[in-house]
Order: sequence, then C-alpha cells, then structure tokens
Amino acid sequence: MPKVKAKSVKKVNLKEGQAVLPFQAPKGMRDILPQDMPLWEKFEKEAKQITEFYNFSKIETPILENLDLFVRGIGEGTDIVEKEMFVVRTRGGGKLVLRPEMTAPVVRAFIQHGLHRLPQPQRLYYLGPAFRHENPQSGRFRQFHQLGLEILSGEGESDPVYDAEIVIASYHLLEELKIKNLVIQLNSIGCRTCRPTYKKKLSEYYRGKDICRDCKLRLQINPLRVLDCKNKNCQPIKAGAPSVLDYLCAPCKSHLKRVLEFLDEVKLPYIMNSQLVRGLDYYNRTVFEIFTEEGDLALAGGGRYDYLSEMLGGRPVSAVGVAIGIERIIEIIRSTYTNGLNSHKAKVFLVYIGDVARIKSLSLIEDLRKNRIPVAQALGKNSLSSQLEVAQKAGSPLALIFGQKESHEGSIIVRDMESGVQEVVPLTKIADELKHRLHRD
Ligand code: AMP
Repeated sequence: MPKVKAKSVKKVNLKEGQAVLPFQAPKGMRDILPQDMPLWEKFEKEAKQITEFYNFSKIETPILENLDLFVRGIGEGTDIVEKEMFVVRTRGGGKLVLRPEMTAPVVRAFIQHGLHRLPQPQRLYYLGPAFRHENPQSGRFRQFHQLGLEILSGEGESDPVYDAEIVIASYHLLEELKIKNLVIQLNSIGCRTCRPTYKKKLSEYYRGKDICRDCKLRLQINPLRVLDCKNKNCQPIKAGAPSVLDYLCAPCKSHLKRVLEFLDEVKLPYIMNSQLVRGLDYYNRTVFEIFTEEGDLALAGGGRYDYLSEMLGGRPVSAVGVAIGIERIIEIIRSTYTNGLNSHKAKVFLVYIGDVARIKSLSLIEDLRKNRIPVAQALGKNSLSSQLEVAQKAGSPLALIFGQKESHEGSIIVRDMESGVQEVVPLTKIADELKHRLHRD
C-alpha cells in the first residue's frame, strides 16, 4: 500500500469564538450544524408529503459513478463535464466521479434494472448530495443537495401532462415551504427534427459578431449555449437573437401548447423565456426554472429528456424531471421559520437526586423508550440546580423528579411545569400515567 503523507498544515485565522484549527471543511463544502437541522427537516417533511401525494417512490444511486456516464449523458463541452467534475482515480486505473447531478444516474439505474418492465411511467424521486468543482459563492457550492423528481416511461410516450405535473409538484413544494413571489420561467427547445434548423439560424446570426471567447467555443460545440452566456458585452447581441419558439416543428408546438394549457388550468404563474436553454445536452422540448422575484439564482430547474436513455446506450425512454436545490431553499426559509421550528422537543424531562436514583434512572428511561415516550435528561450533571437549568431550556411541559426517597419506594414525582402541581406516581404506573397526560394535551 502506498504511504500517504500528510502535508504540513497552516494555521488559519478564524472568527472570534471559533476554535483555532488548522483544518477547515474543503472549499465550497459545508457542515450542516444541529442548529440548522430543523430547517432541513422541515424541507424533508414537506418534500415527503409532496412526493407521497404525487406518488413518487424513492430511489438512491451511488455517490460515485463512472466518468463516461456523465460525459455521454451531460455532454462534452458543457461546463459540468469540462471543468466541474471531481474525478477519483481507482486503484485499478479506472476513473469514477462524484456525481455532479442525479438524472443520468437515475436513468442508468432505470436501464440497468429493467424498470421499463414495471408499470409505466415510473415516478421516482431522489434526495442527496451532488458535487461540482465550481467557484464557490453565495448560493453556489461544491457540495450541495438536490431533491429530484423524475417521471420515466419505457413506452416512449412523451405525454405533456407529465411535464406539467413535474412543474406543478415542484411549484407546490416551494409554495408549501411558504416561499413567496415564485416565478416559473419556461421554454421549449424543440427536438431532433426542428432544433438543427434553429441552431443553424442562431449560428448565422452570431457569425462575425463581437462575442466572448466562451461564446465562440459554444458556437462550435453547441450553439444553443450562447444563450446561457452571462458576459456583459454579449447581452445586447443575445437580446437580438432569433427565438427558438419561431422554429418549433408542429409536434413540438402542440406539445408546448398542451403543457401551457395544463399549467393555465391550475393557474401557475409562468412566464415564457425563449432564451432559457439550460446547460445540459440531454434536454428536449420543455425546459423550466423556478426563481423568486427577488433572486437571480434558480431554486429549481428541469425539463424533458427523451434522448438521454439512448445517449447512454439504452432503449428509448421518454422522461421529464426537475432538480430542486436544497441549500438555496434553506437560505430563503431561514427567515420564515426563525424560532418557529422545534422538532425534538421532548415533552418529559427527568431530574434525579442522588446516586441510587441516577442508576435507576437508566432502566426507567429504557422503560419509557419501550413505551415510545421521549424523555430528555441531564444525567451527566450532578447538581439539581444544573439539571433544572437544562430542563428550563428544554421547555418540556412535564418534569419527572426522581429523589432518594422515591427511588427507594419505587415511585416518582410528576410535576406539571405550568401549574406547578405535583403528584407521586408508582413506577409501575408511570408509563400509563404519562401516556394519559400527553394524550390529553
Ligand atoms: P441543475 O442541476 O444545474 O439544473 O441545478 C438544479 C438546481 O440545483 C438549481 O436550480 C439550484 O437550486 C441547485 N444547484 C445547482 N448547482 C448548485 C451549486 N453549485 N450550489 C448550490 N445549489 C446548486
């Protein structure tokens, strides 16, 4: 085994109150601390309700995948494949990558496990980390989390109702999280039949114009991507570019029309943005992103990807999906739910006095656990006052006081923290008594 030597480490200056440690989380990757967990749990709770309601089943794929899955799926010449993948060399000389997104892995799994043999369409969702070697900045990380919804059908029916369902489910999740002023931007980028003509028109339009180096490259590899350009000087040129909507073939036009009819039916606030193309090669027809009116970073992005399965060497699978960026959502809902989320508040706090009571507390706690009564405690604190301090902070409505006398007699005091009323209860009856009181509340 090769010896791995640690490099000498530099001390770093940290903010006041933080420990001085030479190690930091890797650039663009963050710890999620316990104080933020209620926000993540809130997101997961709403996500669970939405996925259950719209009938999506969970799928998990490995964090590492073969490099070629993304080269073929996302496409050479894309930022993700050219610049942003974390590549891991295996000892056997192969190359794996930390997944930069999860749609290609889901389609890989769909093909690999023959999910087309199950009732179609398959409605799948995933939730997990993705990795892109980007320049970290606000709302853009190197490790981030996505919730994705995908509707895949091995029967090759590219029904516009599925496009609409994906947009509707994503929108409603954000709405359930009380995110205000949501705007859906939507476009159709056509199909194999009509897109080549549009690409040609776009290239002709850009020819000879004073555009950035990236755009010049994009024109050669995938002209559609000039519409992704954020360079200031290219913006006036981009504004005058021909619109993809004018070049859609009849089936693509009718597909788009149907999607819009469905969205109109449920009154979703979408706007057409004919310059929305999204960065990945695998999309066709519908593409969309969801923003808030105030923000310029998308909270969610998705679209139809009927060719991806074939690009990966599989049978034709028509599919549409969305990826929702969890970090960006957490930042938005942080102000909405300040102090409002308290997911692990135990309703009962156990306080002990003396060594015998402390020992017996352990079996009492186990007894309560078996009865599914969550109980908080501070058995590591010796004095009654420091235990009460913890109890105060926990804010549990009931306290159990286990003194020396009680521990010898096989009883315990139940104190209602609001009224201050106390009652002695035999240990054999305590679980029932607590259930009764908690149920009553
Ligand atoms: P994409 O897979 O690029 O379409 O991204 C889908 C969603 O994931 C975006 O709308 C963002 O909310 C989120 N996202 C993408 N890249 C990042 C990143 N580097 N950091 C944080 N969130 C991201």
